[in-house]
Amino acid sequence: MKLNNFTLKKQLLLYLLGFTILIVVFLWLFQVFIFPNIYKIIKKNDIITANEKISAIATNYDAQQISDVANRYNVCAVVIYLDNTSQSFKVSHNPQICFLNDVDSTQMNYFYKKALNSSEGIYLERIGLDQVIDNRGDAAFLRKDFSAIVYSTLSLDGKLLVITNADTVMQTSTQNSLNIILVVSSLTLLLVAILLSYFISRKVSSPILLLSKDVKKIGTGNYDIIFDYRNNKEMSDLTNSLNHTVKKLAEVDQLRKELIANVSHDLKTPLTLISSYGELMKDYPKEINSENIDIIINEANYLNELVNDILDLSKYENHLQKLNLTDFNIKALIKDLINLNKISTKSIELKLSRNALVRADEIKIRQVLTNLITNALEYADSKIIIKTQVVDQRMLIAIIDDGAGIDQQNQEKIWDRYYRSTDKSSYHSGIGLSIVKKICELHQIEYGVDSALNQGSTFYFYLELSSKD
Ligand code: ADP
Repeated sequence: MKLNNFTLKKQLLLYLLGFTILIVVFLWLFQVFIFPNIYKIIKKNDIITANEKISAIATNYDAQQISDVANRYNVCAVVIYLDNTSQSFKVSHNPQICFLNDVDSTQMNYFYKKALNSSEGIYLERIGLDQVIDNRGDAAFLRKDFSAIVYSTLSLDGKLLVITNADTVMQTSTQNSLNIILVVSSLTLLLVAILLSYFISRKVSSPILLLSKDVKKIGTGNYDIIFDYRNNKEMSDLTNSLNHTVKKLAEVDQLRKELIANVSHDLKTPLTLISSYGELMKDYPKEINSENIDIIINEANYLNELVNDILDLSKYENHLQKLNLTDFNIKALIKDLINLNKISTKSIELKLSRNALVRADEIKIRQVLTNLITNALEYADSKIIIKTQVVDQRMLIAIIDDGAGIDQQNQEKIWDRYYRSTDKSSYHSGIGLSIVKKICELHQIEYGVDSALNQGSTFYFYLELSSKD
């Protein structure tokens, strides 16, 4: 039987029933094994206390007073004065259980001797059948199920013998009442468990069922759902997480739609150019010149880059990219990239630190720098600064431009894939910074942007210094 195949209702019912059955079993065990022993201890205390109290008041020779004490503690008592006054009282409470009722004065002698011989003048014994036969030589008056405590004390210099006694087994009537109470309480407990499990499971499972219905709608592409199940803290947390997830899914879905629109647009423009120029040169051979061929080559290159970026990003997102860490000179890498960007009309200023050896994946860091420098050159008004500096045992690399900057609310979004500022339409896939982000995350390095509108932007990341430097 696999419990996790059961509905919540059935599981709760099973748990509560199991728990109740445990309680019932415990109650029965308690009544059969523990309660009789507790009863015996209580009874024994009663017998001893009654004996002490009767000994204290016996010199009043007041039979009524002695009887009151015996009644209060539900014991039988015999008080014998051994000072030749030849007075004695026998007080029996519940005669049917009173052992002393059946004992004559000769037989009392047994308890007198026991009290006399014991060091403190006290004798306390649970009388069993065999013992009494031995001592009295006569068991005719004893019941078979006899079980009692007799407590006898000698006081007033041996002139007062007080014997108290009571049965230590509960009477059958008391036992029966207890049994009835136990049966009724067990059945009530079971009933309460069933009702409780029904109500609790209804309270817990109904919102889950409703929620699961709503969650199914997400699968059909409906992201307008707002979850609002706040019956308890856990449901409230789940609701918050689901709302967050749906919001993110909606954003991704929106980006995906935009991507299809953008990428198809991005692909279409260069493809149209390539095919038009191709046809033009085919129809008019005099149009075959280096200018037109360059256009075809540039557009083909752009297509190549775009497809590579998309493939790269998907590899990062599927965790297929691994790091190949080496020690390399970051200064040399930056200078190398600047040489490739010499044709830019914007000026490039370098502020490079003396230390240059860093430890990272060189090819991937080259990709990061390429993306950041290309963007900076693109968005700068007139110049960019590339800076390296050792900060807190790390190499800070910053690319600073004097462009329009990025407003606060978009600074987080620019790292999302396919995000691009709306005013740029073609030749911008919105993939570059998401690749930068993935590479920095893979390296587990700090990265970010400081920017304000009309004040330019500073994109930065930190690299681990090489231990060889
Ligand atoms: P792309 O440049 O192809 O649009 P990116 O992922 O490189 O894609 O950049 C995403 C967006 O971030 C850009 O569309 C632009 O809005 C913004 N951005 C990136 N770099 C800068 C920068 N240096 N200055 C201002 N905005 C920038």
